[in-house]
Amino acid sequence: MENVIIIGTGCAGYTAAIYTARANLTPLLLSGTQPGGQLTTTTEVENFPGFPEGIMGPELMTRMQQQAEKFGARVAWASVESIERREDGSFLIKAGEQSFESKTVIVATGAAPRHMGIEGEQKLIGHGLTSCATCDGAFYRDVPVCVIGGGDSACEEADFLTRFASKVYLIHRRDELRASKIMAERVLENPKIEPVWDTVVTEYLTDDKGEMRAVTLQNVKSGDTSELEVACVFVAIGHVPNSGFLGDLVDTDENGYILQTPGRTATKTPGLFAAGDVADHYYRQAITAAGQGCASALEAERYLSGHA
Ligand code: NAP
Repeated sequence: MENVIIIGTGCAGYTAAIYTARANLTPLLLSGTQPGGQLTTTTEVENFPGFPEGIMGPELMTRMQQQAEKFGARVAWASVESIERREDGSFLIKAGEQSFESKTVIVATGAAPRHMGIEGEQKLIGHGLTSCATCDGAFYRDVPVCVIGGGDSACEEADFLTRFASKVYLIHRRDELRASKIMAERVLENPKIEPVWDTVVTEYLTDDKGEMRAVTLQNVKSGDTSELEVACVFVAIGHVPNSGFLGDLVDTDENGYILQTPGRTATKTPGLFAAGDVADHYYRQAITAAGQGCASALEAERYLSGHA
């Protein structure tokens, strides 16, 4: 029986691991399908305190893992499918053929990229449709591409893609970016990025090999439609929290974000804590996720010592 199982290995998970490991609870981290979490699909992180020169996302996550392991945390590859709370208050976690038992659980499963819901979307992933510029941008050299969205992610993706693409169209459903001022300015000043305002993508158009060749656009004000030739579409329209596997153990808001006890990381189930993007629809920053990871570790520690 483990003291603490941490599900997820992003900023929240590794920070929870560092704290619970230093408290001699020898936590077990279950990595999930994206070890290292969302920062492994980003490039330079400029706003994580302590790195004035910036740090590459994957390197930051590797360092967090090393720091957690240094204090005795263990990492296992497992994609959790279900959790059950037993009569004695412990948890049974199932992941394929594997099962784990623990006195407490910290859920730090983050959030996954949201899809547009356009017909044929699933089949096009990897054939000119992606949510990860860092992963796929270099495949699209000297060709036009587009990014859908107007937030920080969309701007970051668009900026990064200008290293490769001949042109980057930034397609946004309004006429003002949601992104932070610094990101928005960077994008709007970049001559390789062309914003397409008040516009939605309604259709993906493929060539005879099934690869993306263009999108159908619709102006939301005039209703006019047009075709835009692009070799790849990068979808950056926000995220969906990975909370579905928890069933009735947690309450969520209408978008699936886990509801915590106000000001805490506790959930409605004693011994089950939630930290990071799976419970945070508001800040969604690496540093706030890390902060919640720390809080969840302290709460788990107090729960185990009977001082919750
Ligand atoms: P976000 O801020 O929620 O932005 C999502 C964007 O997608 C919005 O512009 C939204 O349009 C648009 N959108 C949503 N659904 C759509 C749909 N069905 N069709 C077309 N457009 C749609 O998400 P995010 O950009 O992923 O950022 C998430 C959080 O991470 C934010 O807090 C952000 O600040 C943070 N972040 C920070 C950094 C950084 O600091 N370097 C980098 C990336 C992300 P509307 O504007 O009209 O709603």
